[in-house]
Amino acid sequence: MPNKSRASELYVQYRLELIMAMGGKCSVCGWNGENNQALLELHHTQPKESVWGGKNYYVMKQIWQWHKTRIIPSNILLLCPNHHKIADRNRKLIL
Ligand SMILES: [Zn+2]
Repeated sequence: MPNKSRASELYVQYRLELIMAMGGKCSVCGWNGENNQALLELHHTQPKESVWGGKNYYVMKQIWQWHKTRIIPSNILLLCPNHHKIADRNRKLIL
């Protein structure tokens, strides 16, 4: 396991790779972060609050898993911050 700051660098890098692999834009409006795709957010279509280890750990694990397997998780959608907020407030809209 790399040290903590290296791990967070890698996390940022792998997260961006996943965003690009998913098309690099909001699935609702097509916003691409004005070419800064790191601004896009990963929305979980199933609530992750109840997962083992807590939600941050779950997302971390998912990103590392993606890096190893190159399989895009089926329970996430790529959204801009606006649509992410709307989706979280009204899950029915997106589901
Ligand atoms: Zn959007």
